Amino acid sequence: MFIIKSNKAQYEYDIHSLVKAFYPEEEVRILTPDSIIKDRRILEYPAAMTLTFREEEVLFRVMINGASTEKESDGTSCHDYVWHVEEKQRGEYKDFFKRFLYTSLQEETRKTLPWGNLTGIRPTKIPMAMLKAGKKEDEILSFLQEKHLVSREKAMLSMEIAKREKRILEPLHYEDGYSLYIGIPFCPTTCLYCSFTSYPISAWRERTAEYLQALGKEIDYIADCYRDKILDTVYIGGGTPTSLTAAELEWLLNKIRTSFDCRALQELTVEAGRADSITEEKLCVLRACGVTRISVNPQTMKQETLQLIGRRHTVDQVVQAFDLARHVGLDNINMDIILGLPEEKEEDVRRTIEAIEALDPDSLTVHSLAVKRASKLAGWIEENGVSAFHNTEETMRIAETGARRMGMNPYYLYRQKNMAGNFENVGYAKEGKYGIYNILIMEEVQTIIAVGAGSISKRVYPDGRIERCENVKDVSQYIERIGEMIERKRVLLED
Ligand code: SF4
Repeated sequence: MFIIKSNKAQYEYDIHSLVKAFYPEEEVRILTPDSIIKDRRILEYPAAMTLTFREEEVLFRVMINGASTEKESDGTSCHDYVWHVEEKQRGEYKDFFKRFLYTSLQEETRKTLPWGNLTGIRPTKIPMAMLKAGKKEDEILSFLQEKHLVSREKAMLSMEIAKREKRILEPLHYEDGYSLYIGIPFCPTTCLYCSFTSYPISAWRERTAEYLQALGKEIDYIADCYRDKILDTVYIGGGTPTSLTAAELEWLLNKIRTSFDCRALQELTVEAGRADSITEEKLCVLRACGVTRISVNPQTMKQETLQLIGRRHTVDQVVQAFDLARHVGLDNINMDIILGLPEEKEEDVRRTIEAIEALDPDSLTVHSLAVKRASKLAGWIEENGVSAFHNTEETMRIAETGARRMGMNPYYLYRQKNMAGNFENVGYAKEGKYGIYNILIMEEVQTIIAVGAGSISKRVYPDGRIERCENVKDVSQYIERIGEMIERKRVLLED
């Protein structure tokens, strides 16, 4: 446990994110005078770091006792890092503080982070805003490198993506339009790293009809409430929607076609993530019902890893599912991979990329493994430690080079907390095969109405303000309380 004691409750998210990025193996907790401590045993841990804000004296003091890095039980290697705030720095106090904290941690650990002191999930936000404000590319790159200590490589990546996103989103209807997300929270089995709303389909087979009935009620409400708006994109995710039967998928897709005016629809995506959920019959239904984009996600093409992460399908099944999808005429197929999976090295990633290249998908999403508290992976790490996780600049480069060799461009990017190597997730696609919904969910520039258990709707107002409403995660609760879920949407969507 890495305890940080701070005399003020401020910038806690940024402090936590930065310290965690430098000390990924530690559970980081921040204690301030305002902290509500449920487990008093935490107070018995020595502070690995103390933060003293003395604004009136224009002084910050950070003291890292070094015990965690040097494994000294008596905490002998204490270092003080002191920042005397100058008058000119006061206007950008937080930015200066984050830079100070970053450079102190860098000095202490001798590590450099690819994204510098950026702690948010959207590194493209800054270049996007600066582009819109008419700034020049050189100016934006310098700003990212000097003010946020981002590496030149990552600054250029975020710049390239921001420019592409801006172009892809141009034809969308912002105020008059919206996108729809439909959550199917069932999967064949649960993956080790999963933190989504997902339940094994075998346990819910008898109740999927009830679930679809509840979904239908939400869809009816939205179709009526937003009858004057333009539906730009639809994304059916989860879970794994292809866990449903072919007949159920057909019902759902027909429900969408008959409920909404789909004449302006630019994209209809269905996640067919797990090869063990895909059949030719289901793929034919997707094709016949106008699905424009699917995702067949191997995560890795190494058989041993697939078993280790709880995906009960083989590499051969992935290849067969992909070939079947092409055979039925689906011409926009994405594949997802994860870097930093347990026991995988550079050579494994290289082989995975080569195997994917042989299939020639239209897009590739490269994730860096993120450890979520709700996942089984968090427990696995407690037992086995983090040494089995290996995500490096080299593996990121292998994936990027492979995607570019396949003729793809990076078009969206986001970061999550606790990512292996503190890298990022990047979506690559061939020209014209971009996943528009993926950009929308990141950039938060259009209302996304989400139906289904565990889904979150976001209403984006013209002034950029965002309001959210959530559906319950539990499937039984969702079915039983569907009236209440619709009422929550009514409060969010009706003026
Ligand atoms: S396929 Fe996706 S949603 Fe389903 S268990 Fe695996 S990670 Fe979770």
